[in-house]
Amino acid sequence: MKTETFNINSLVRPSVMALTPYASARDEFKDLKRDMVFLDANENPFNNGVNRYPDPQQTTVKQTLSTLKKIPTDQILLGNGSDEVLDLIIRAFCEPEKDTIITLPPTYGMYGVLANVNNVKNQEISLTIRFQPDEDAILNASDPAAKILFICSPNNPTGNRLDAHKIELILNNFKGLVVIDEAYIDFSKQQSWSQRLAEFPNLIVTQTLSKAYAMAGIRLGICYASAAIIAILNKIKPPYNVNDLTQAKALEQLSNLQDVKTQIALIVSQREQLISSLKSLNFVSEVYPSDANFVLVKVDNATKRYHQLIKEGIVIRNRTTQHLCDNCLRFTIGTPEENTLLLNVLKRLP
Ligand SMILES: *Cc1c(COP(=O)(O)O)cnc(C)c1O
Repeated sequence: MKTETFNINSLVRPSVMALTPYASARDEFKDLKRDMVFLDANENPFNNGVNRYPDPQQTTVKQTLSTLKKIPTDQILLGNGSDEVLDLIIRAFCEPEKDTIITLPPTYGMYGVLANVNNVKNQEISLTIRFQPDEDAILNASDPAAKILFICSPNNPTGNRLDAHKIELILNNFKGLVVIDEAYIDFSKQQSWSQRLAEFPNLIVTQTLSKAYAMAGIRLGICYASAAIIAILNKIKPPYNVNDLTQAKALEQLSNLQDVKTQIALIVSQREQLISSLKSLNFVSEVYPSDANFVLVKVDNATKRYHQLIKEGIVIRNRTTQHLCDNCLRFTIGTPEENTLLLNVLKRLP
C-alpha cells in the first residue's frame, strides 16, 4: 500500500478506536525516580526484587532493541511471546463474525487458532507446491473484510523463506495489513522486513526471543510496525503483559549477543550437515531447503518413522496431516551430539 492511500483508522475496529485504555498506577513509570515513595499501586512495600509492578512500557528492553535493530522505540511493542502479539493484532483489527484473516497453509497453526478464539474467519489460500505464496490468489481475495494477511517467512513447518519479490508485490497491493512472522529470521540469509517499515504503512513484523535467542521460557515476543499501528495495539494490551523477570532476562541476553551469534552459526552449520546426511537415507524421498533451525523431510511412512524414533527416545514433529505435507517429518536442529545420535538412530531403523 502506498503511504498516501493508506488509512490505518479505517481498518481498526470501531470499538477499539473508541475505547479509553486502562490507566495503571505505573503508566508514567519513565518519569518516576527510584528514591520516591511508592504508595500508589497497593504493592507489598518490602523489597524482594519483584514486589513492584513491572514497567508497563518495557522502556529499557525497547531502547536496547531500538539500538540493535535501528527502529524507533515508538515502533516497537512487546508481548508475552509473539503469540500474544498475534492475538492483539487480530483483536485490534478484526470484528468477530464480520472481518476475516488470510493464512497461507502449510503454515504456523496459531494464526488459525487465534482466529477461532476471536470468532474471526480464517480464509486459507494454499502455498504453491514449492511452498511459495500464490500472489494472484491472495490479491484476488483482498477485500474490505480481509483485514490481515499472515505471512510466515522463513515458514514453519516448511523451513523455506518466501520470495521477497512476491512479498513486495503483496505489500504494495493488499488492501489490509500484512503481518510477516519472522520467528526464524536469525537463521536466514533473508534481510528482515523490519528494515523496510517506512516503505509499507500496512506492514507489521513479528519476531521472538524464543528461537535463535534461546529464551523460549521467558516468553518475549516483539512487534515492529508504524507508530500509528503500535499506538493502537498499545491501547488494548494488558498493562503488565511482560513481567519483570522476563524484562531482566531479555536485557541480559540482548547485551551479550556474542554467545547467541556463535550458537546461531553452529545451528546453521549443523543444519547443512544434517540436510546432506538425511538425503542419503533410503526411506527419505525429499529434504526441503531450510532457512530456519529445523528441516522438513518427506519419508516413506511418517507415522511409522515417528513412532520408531519415540521408541528410541527421540521426539520429532510428525507433520503428515498438514496441507501439502503428506508423510513429512519436522526435525529441529539440536546440539552436534544430539544430531549425531539422531542420524545414528535413523541409519539403524528397520
Ligand atoms: C515458535 C513460533 C512462534 C512463537 O513464538 P513465541 O514468541 O514463543 O510465542 C511464532 N511464530 C512462528 C512461526 C513460530 O514457529
